[in-house]
Amino acid sequence: MKNVVRYPDLRLRKVSPPLTIEEIHAVGDGRVPGDIAYEAVQLLATKGDGVAIAANQAGSELRFFAIDRQKADGDVEGSQLPTVVCNPTIVNASTEMIEELEGCLSFPGMFFKVKRHTWVDVQFSYSSDVYVNTIGRQVIKANDMRLTGFWARVFQHETEHLDGKTFVDNLPHKKRMQIANELRIRLQKMGW
Ligand SMILES: [Zn+2]
Repeated sequence: MKNVVRYPDLRLRKVSPPLTIEEIHAVGDGRVPGDIAYEAVQLLATKGDGVAIAANQAGSELRFFAIDRQKADGDVEGSQLPTVVCNPTIVNASTEMIEELEGCLSFPGMFFKVKRHTWVDVQFSYSSDVYVNTIGRQVIKANDMRLTGFWARVFQHETEHLDGKTFVDNLPHKKRMQIANELRIRLQKMGW
């Protein structure tokens, strides 16, 4: 199995363009062995502390992220999200921000406090949103949802990945320099 793409790999800097209907079909629901969403879901499952993974962290330029639905157990908002979230979009966000500790599979063992909106109104699609309408054309239905707390944070973190950013981009310049130094040391010591 492949590995999670680690910072500062340039693939994490790529902006993933919106998926077409055909691509949403191709991405599927993460249950077809061999497809990229399946690989992303498997990759996430092997990382016990990961809640979600963006496609570019699995080496794909497709605009989706996968969540570990088992970690949404009992959480209403989390369990309303599909395993594979295509074309995630934030359409509105709270002015209120909250700072909490965050981790990222592309930065193993590193955690930083990041300010995020306390709630976000989101839109997204998933494979079974693609259907044929009455005039025989394939269309996509976008889901609308308000997320708060933990899943609002996850959605913001993952959507940011698909826009070519990572959570350290939210940190002050000085802190980012410290992180770059720490990564250099790790790289020399253990081939990060
Ligand atoms: Zn991440």
